[in-house]
Amino acid sequence: MGFDEMDVETIWMDGEFVDWDEAQVHVLTHGLHYGSGIFEGARCYDTEKGPALFRWEEHLERLFHSAKPYEMDIDFTKEELTEATKELIRRQELPSCYVRPIAYYGYNSLGVSPKDCPTRTAIAVWPWGAYLGEDALENGIDVMISSWRKHASSQIPTNAKTTGLYVNSMLAGEEARRNGYAEALVLNKEGHVAEGPGENVFLVRDGELYTPALSESILDGITRDSVIQIAEDLGYTVHDNVSISRGELNTADELFFTGSAAEVTPIRKVDNVVIGDGSRGPVTEEIQQKFFEIVEEAPDEYAEWFEFVDLE
Ligand code: PMP
Repeated sequence: MGFDEMDVETIWMDGEFVDWDEAQVHVLTHGLHYGSGIFEGARCYDTEKGPALFRWEEHLERLFHSAKPYEMDIDFTKEELTEATKELIRRQELPSCYVRPIAYYGYNSLGVSPKDCPTRTAIAVWPWGAYLGEDALENGIDVMISSWRKHASSQIPTNAKTTGLYVNSMLAGEEARRNGYAEALVLNKEGHVAEGPGENVFLVRDGELYTPALSESILDGITRDSVIQIAEDLGYTVHDNVSISRGELNTADELFFTGSAAEVTPIRKVDNVVIGDGSRGPVTEEIQQKFFEIVEEAPDEYAEWFEFVDLE
């Protein structure tokens, strides 16, 4: 999955377009030592109507919201970040790509207080296929309940997409992969189902959908929100303000992950327990198909989800 200068020639840093080799930070950067960065992960889809950033407004809004608890002032406006992203896509002719904006405290001193540290901002775009593999989208993945728990939202704002939080995701994901699973599923401090390392989770039972409430120490996923709207538009009832116990996973008819990177990925096994009949379930398939149809066609009913990128 690695990428290098062959894929990413240009990166936007603090207002400038720089070559891959020049996109460097100082080793005494605050964000490197203390995880004090906030970031986003979005996708640009090559729709039938042209390349378009999917739910870009919401990603930008979450970026600025993530900065708030850290009293971080991003030196660029949403319009400037949008223009920089579009220009990266244009220059590298990447109508379909993943988009990674990041803002972090740079170097001033290495006290824990970032008070005098500058806020640095960067954006990179690169080609990225199915995050958990093409096969995962069709046949689903096996997940392991992590022995690690999610941070509680009383310990750290879990609704902010903070770089430092992802060491928890890394521990959970690597533990799962060491044990032969594709991904982890992480419980919160109370022992309720929270989310994946980089995905929200949905459960299907008796034709209705359930997903953990935002109060369960999860990220307010933008794909979660898209899937709730899609499911409701398809006539499903969605319960998005519930807690889900570990045991309910085993008896679910279907389970799936959502995320900007993971899109809609079925889960066929949790630990050693087969979910439903062990393949992509019919409700998951219908929602997944609709999701991919929307990002392919950019239909008028969902026009507000697309920010088109003019390649000229
Ligand atoms: N939870 C976590 C911890 C994540 O990192 C992500 C990916 N951003 C998600 C959920 C899914 O969020 P989204 O659909 O906005 O990508």
